Amino acid sequence: MCSGRSNLSIRLRLILWYSGLLVLILSTFGGILYAVLQSSLLAQIDRTLMETALEVQASARRHVAITPFNWQEVVALPPLDVFASPSIFVQVRYPAGIVAATSANLRNRTLPELPAEDWEKVLQGQVDMRIVQVGSIRLRMRSEAIAFEGRPAGVLQVAMPLRSVDETLQRLLEILLIGGGVGLFLSILGGIFLSSRALAPVARVTETARRIAATEDLGERLPPPRTRDEVGRLVLTFNEMLERLQHLFQAQQRFIADVSHELRTPLAAIRGNLEVLLRGAQEDPDMLRESLTDIEREVNRLSRMVADLLTLARAEAGIHPERRPVELDRLLLEVYREARHLAQGVEVRLGSEDQVQVLGDADQLKQLLLNLVDNSLKYTPAGGTVTLSLYREDSWACLSVADTGVGIAPQDLPHIFERFYRGKGDGRRGRRTGLGLGLPIAQWIAQEHGGEIRVESRPGQGSTFTVRLPLPPAD
Ligand code: ADP
Repeated sequence: MCSGRSNLSIRLRLILWYSGLLVLILSTFGGILYAVLQSSLLAQIDRTLMETALEVQASARRHVAITPFNWQEVVALPPLDVFASPSIFVQVRYPAGIVAATSANLRNRTLPELPAEDWEKVLQGQVDMRIVQVGSIRLRMRSEAIAFEGRPAGVLQVAMPLRSVDETLQRLLEILLIGGGVGLFLSILGGIFLSSRALAPVARVTETARRIAATEDLGERLPPPRTRDEVGRLVLTFNEMLERLQHLFQAQQRFIADVSHELRTPLAAIRGNLEVLLRGAQEDPDMLRESLTDIEREVNRLSRMVADLLTLARAEAGIHPERRPVELDRLLLEVYREARHLAQGVEVRLGSEDQVQVLGDADQLKQLLLNLVDNSLKYTPAGGTVTLSLYREDSWACLSVADTGVGIAPQDLPHIFERFYRGKGDGRRGRRTGLGLGLPIAQWIAQEHGGEIRVESRPGQGSTFTVRLPLPPAD
């Protein structure tokens, strides 16, 4: 059993609760059983005592009726031994308390006297029931008056030993204690067995988690559960969590690899151009201009990539863009100029250009547009066009970037705004692909400004991305 300290304590707690409850149930049940049996055995004895007393009373009266002399003589008792059995003692006392007669089985002993006030009550007609001790024997004793012509002529006492009742109750107590003890022991054993069976899968989860932490192998999974109970669901959730962690971890690794790759490419291009210049190309004005244009393009690409990463970090940190008036027409013009530098054989055009102002972060909005324009230039072959437009539509400012490029495959369209998603065919077309961050970042910026991005695309014909930003309320 591979159980840690906390597992053990859950198990211990389960067993303690379980056994505690069992002790409570057993002792309540045993107590009730004991009390019920005790009272029914006593009731049985009391019934026998009452029947005997009735018999004595009945024959005493018969004798009394025949000999009506003074009160001492009237209590003419039948021989008490007739009523006594080995386990029933009979005795009669005069009202003053003196013993008048006893059954022979009492030998030279007598049944005890009652305390004065109880004696009075008996003389007045009450029946007294109590447990008394004669020598070493415990007895149940019944005392009642023998009346003659409305006056008490004596007190009849009948008693039975409680030995058999005591023995029965003693045996019951033994059975309850031994049975309860054995039951408790078995229940603890059962509890240990059941709780370790129930907690074993939890221990396996812990063990796997520990192994993963030690080896950092996120590919490991717990064997699929056979049942859909709580533990089964825990295992499923744990596996799902591992799956997601693995996915995220792989995405992060791929991201780092991609970032390094993406940074290396423009740096290599810059270095190549610098080497050409150092080898004497600066003497030739045409080559100089070409190399410097190349370097500028690559530096711009690098800055955009760094800006993307920075925006991503801001988005992760929950930092919101500032809100200041931004003239979109000026912004569009800036982007248009930069785009013309980036375009290699693609014509960049300006479409309609309304004067529109929105509230937001100028740098981020420019980055949004540049990401869209960069994509359009990337996915439009030489000879194609990219058109930038700005216009109003109801209460929206609309910025659109339309290209006559390769378009987006229908299966890619639903995913292009997902992080790190890159169109499936991109690599094959020998095109430079990005990190798959351009569109998600553009969309994040649009949403942070209360807007959205819409896309229409036809494979082979081109795509149009439209950014809609809310116009500020009119003053
Ligand atoms: P990337 O850095 O790979 O361009 P993006 O998030 O900017 O990442 O774009 C995601 C994917 O969307 C691209 O890989 C590409 O397949 C597709 N895409 C985006 N813009 C265009 C476009 N103008 N024309 C064709 N495909 C596009």
